[in-house]
Amino acid sequence: MTAQETPTTLEEPPGTKPPRPWEDVPLSQWQDWRWQLAHRLNTVADFAQVIRLTDDEIAGLSAPGLFRVDVTPYWASLMDADDPNCPIRRQIMPTAAELRPFDAEMVDSLGEDAHSPVPGLVHRYPDRVLMLVTTQCASYCRFCTRSRIVGNPEAQFSRADYDRQIDYLAHTPQVRDVLLSGGDALMIPPKILDDLLGRLRALPHIEIIRIGTRVPNFLPQRITDDLIAVLRKYHPLWMNIHFNHPKEITPEVSVALAKLADAGIPLGAQTVLMAGINDCPTILTELMHKLVRHRVRPYYLYQCDMVHGAGHFRTSVATGIALMEALRGHTSGYAIPIYVIDAPQGGGKVPILPNYLISQAHDRVVVRNFEGFISTYVQPSDYKPHDPAACPACRARLYDGQEGVAGLLAGPQLTIEPEHWRISHQRSTAPLVFPPGALPDGWPAAAEARIPAEVTG
Ligand SMILES: *Cc1c(COP(=O)(O)O)cnc(C)c1O
Ligand code: SF4
Repeated sequence: MTAQETPTTLEEPPGTKPPRPWEDVPLSQWQDWRWQLAHRLNTVADFAQVIRLTDDEIAGLSAPGLFRVDVTPYWASLMDADDPNCPIRRQIMPTAAELRPFDAEMVDSLGEDAHSPVPGLVHRYPDRVLMLVTTQCASYCRFCTRSRIVGNPEAQFSRADYDRQIDYLAHTPQVRDVLLSGGDALMIPPKILDDLLGRLRALPHIEIIRIGTRVPNFLPQRITDDLIAVLRKYHPLWMNIHFNHPKEITPEVSVALAKLADAGIPLGAQTVLMAGINDCPTILTELMHKLVRHRVRPYYLYQCDMVHGAGHFRTSVATGIALMEALRGHTSGYAIPIYVIDAPQGGGKVPILPNYLISQAHDRVVVRNFEGFISTYVQPSDYKPHDPAACPACRARLYDGQEGVAGLLAGPQLTIEPEHWRISHQRSTAPLVFPPGALPDGWPAAAEARIPAEVTG
């Protein structure tokens, strides 16, 4: 065997026989991703062969209009047959709780549809785009943030959609980073994936391509040598894999991760913080340690989105902050993800962390560490701040129109104003004139929205 064929894996090698109740399936079939996809579980009868279903799960599985249920036999084999709170089981098994709406829920909680210049492309940030290339996944997570589009076998992206996405990118030179997601980008047929990656790589301004996927976790069998050969043609290619619980990192997943890492693909992990699954400092730390051992760098820990079906998985934000407190300092920096709220309405990812800066004066800042030790950093008095106007690199940079708070710090701009802020602050008796559509439906007409004359005298 060459080094390339022997992935440097850490776990025991996978078993020599498929697990119960698939023990009669030939191992070669069990290890074939096409067999896994063709034999996914989705009905009460399917699941009843593997686990002892609860009434709650049966009610969930039988509900009409449910977000798609489909689970690879491999993932189903990891479920605890007797424990309905099994973290593997809860992530894919619908229950009655999923059907209950909650107060703040939204269909498109991230406002992605509003940021789409062409179908499937979300251009939210200045220099990078999210490209939704498929609606299909290897299995379906009950808390999926894109359940509005994911799972529908009829709503597939076509060659013409890809053409329009590539065309937009070809004409948008500020994009240097393309993130392929979906659904699951590794679910598109191998030839189409190869073609798509090739077309992206042909655009000179696309510096990095990223793949967002849960396939190495739901369907590690898919990480074949053929797939690796395709992926490694398109470096620099990065991959973010969705992992929520240490039980997900099995011998099979270990092999798949080793192959990907050995192919030179930098691996990241995305984790969704969920009640009863990973809202525990011990379990979350174990997950992070296991990821790092497998050369996967934890990237984001997401606050669970306000999306229909996910209400019972949501935690408080305070829970996330306490978990970050339990990681930083206590373990390797490599094992610490960035905790983010993906802000509703297209606000994007906002990092949240405990306060470490306790106070400051003109010449010093007071900080505390993870142990509560408080100390002082004395700032230099002779530091000459960077001057962008005198910096050739800054002057050569293209203005991207999205300077944000960093722009306020750099000056000369002093404010960022909510829309129509100035109009609503005109202090005179003249009628306020808002542009059409600026006021919410049902509000009085603009002129009548004025403070009545008797109040102002
Ligand atoms: C998450 C996301 C990205 C990538 O953001 P990074 O912080 O660079 O990982 C890009 N576009 C959209 C719409 C996203 O949601
Ligand atoms: S793998 Fe990702 S896109 Fe697919 S169902 Fe799960 S969360 Fe949604």
